[in-house]
Amino acid sequence: MAQGKNFNCSSCGWHAAGWDEGLPYYFKASGEKRYAPHPYSDHHLCTGTEDDFACRACGAVFRLDRAAKEQGSCPDCESTDVVALWFMPDGSPCPRCKADALHLSRAIS
Ligand SMILES: [Zn+2]
Ligand SMILES: [Zn+2]
Repeated sequence: MAQGKNFNCSSCGWHAAGWDEGLPYYFKASGEKRYAPHPYSDHHLCTGTEDDFACRACGAVFRLDRAAKEQGSCPDCESTDVVALWFMPDGSPCPRCKADALHLSRAIS
């Protein structure tokens, strides 16, 4: 069971989700990256985990490896003001339009 947070902005439609266990992945023999969160049967093959991040400067949503030693930066605007969606509190301002407090809904998969 994984727990997720879903954020939706009622002003601009920005939406994103983060998961407590992140996004486990592994590489197939072909070199292709495959995400296998619970309850996928190939979950036990996973060798790493990525998390979904949002950029507070421009609203981009992207993924960073949990094992990365340095704090990531936004691939779009290079801002380091980024936050893992799982750790973003309810009521945060929308990263894109800054106008509205985000409404948080919880999801379980
Ligand atoms: Zn950015
Ligand atoms: Zn917005």
